[in-house]
Amino acid sequence: MGMIGNIGVIGAGQMGAGIAHVCALAGHDIVLCDINEDALDAALGKIEKNMGRQVAKGHITEEAARTAHARIKTTTDYAAFAACGLVIEAATEKEAVKVSIFEKLNGHLNAEAFIATNTSSLSITRLAAITDRPARFIGLHFMNPVPVMKLVELIRGIQTSDETYAMAMDLVKRLGKTPAVSEDFPGFIVNRLLLPMINEAVYALYEGVGSVAAIDTAMHLGANHPMGPLQLADFIGLDTCLSIMRVLHDELADTKYRPCPLLVKYVEAGWLGRKTGRGFYDYETTPPQPTR
Ligand code: NAD
Repeated sequence: MGMIGNIGVIGAGQMGAGIAHVCALAGHDIVLCDINEDALDAALGKIEKNMGRQVAKGHITEEAARTAHARIKTTTDYAAFAACGLVIEAATEKEAVKVSIFEKLNGHLNAEAFIATNTSSLSITRLAAITDRPARFIGLHFMNPVPVMKLVELIRGIQTSDETYAMAMDLVKRLGKTPAVSEDFPGFIVNRLLLPMINEAVYALYEGVGSVAAIDTAMHLGANHPMGPLQLADFIGLDTCLSIMRVLHDELADTKYRPCPLLVKYVEAGWLGRKTGRGFYDYETTPPQPTR
């Protein structure tokens, strides 16, 4: 159980559910919290289904899945965090949302508890400063889908203590994940490198260097990527891709991060990728057809 015992998770969306899933399998009792009761119910259902998949693949036993699922309690009340040694924030990626969560969390935790955030783009140092314990605050950036992806980025704010860093490193390892340590810069490591590649693929499409199919085939078979960059963009969500590019562009103030105008147009059209049925591919058809 390491030094942290019970873990609280704030936000029961795709990431919060995944984080609760892997932490429960590692033996922690979980308090999963959301403002939306439906999101909590949906998360429990999703965790059950995903654990079922791991059982079917022989990765975990049915008994382990049942025990882990029973460790997850849901709530909308922060009072339940009093018994947690760590609270991981995985709510909507809006600074105002996270600020209100951290302000509300002040006063609900025991003095020894740590706080982590799963933010993809916001400054860890700035978020830490809102809490009543900046030294016990750290970035733990899980990848989607959490039960499958092996990496967790570990990001120290300027205030993060060595003890907090050691706690996070220990947790990541006990979850069976591999850590990569990043300084607190926009996009950290994965998104700093991945998103400019995706944005460049959209530029290649925009400038007519190749079709959607040609660009994806080129990177899939020519660079051995598991999927092409435009396929990946549809998977991540084009709105998410655009907002990460905007953070890189604004905060690093370098024109090389300029979001491609075609990406902006797709987002303006509401073509956000898989989640809306259309992005660089049309998901109404099987197999999905390229849209250009
Ligand atoms: P999501 O939209 O699936 O889930 C967000 C959840 O937060 C929703 O259930 C919402 O009801 C809840 N929420 C909103 N305000 C809240 C509040 N005040 N208190 C409690 N819950 C609240 O989003 P997601 O994809 O799970 O992303 C969550 C976080 O993880 C974001 O910071 C995001 O940047 C980060 N992240 C996402 C990915 C990804 O690929 N989706 C990958 C890594 C990190």
